Amino acid sequence: MDCIFCKIAAGQIPCSKIYEDQEVLVILDIGPVSDGHTLVIPKEHCTKVHNCSSQSLSAVMTVLPKIASAVAEAVGADGYNILCNNGRAAGQLVEHLHFHIIPRKTGDGVFNHWPAFKYPQGKAEKIAEEIRARL
Ligand code: AMP
Ligand code: ZN
Repeated sequence: MDCIFCKIAAGQIPCSKIYEDQEVLVILDIGPVSDGHTLVIPKEHCTKVHNCSSQSLSAVMTVLPKIASAVAEAVGADGYNILCNNGRAAGQLVEHLHFHIIPRKTGDGVFNHWPAFKYPQGKAEKIAEEIRARL
């Protein structure tokens, strides 16, 4: 399979490795948006949160807090974002699930556009019902 993260997990492509266990690989992002930008990657190939095994997801979530804390402390961050892009429309370029840890400094402007809006009357309840019907 022609997947860059599978190749990194198999040791076929070099990376700045931070942590590894049987199910999870943690590396520095090669194109960081801030110092210490880190990727937490299940070794099992899956593309999105909803098609990844519970075992891989729970392995990722088990290491995430410890890694996030170490990353933030190492670069003196005031906070961090955990970001997971699912699908091209959401900005996913590498189609192997991964969680970004993006260290943040106060006022750094890394994500300064958050296009929040208000639902018109009744729309939120309609959408909530559509979602509940699919669970
Ligand atoms: P996304 O847009 O969520 O799919 O993010 C993919 C991320 O993978 C980007 O931030 C890239 O900089 C990063 N990336 C791509 N190739 C590599 C690589 N060989 N080593 C480390 N990070 C990579
Ligand atoms: Zn893969």
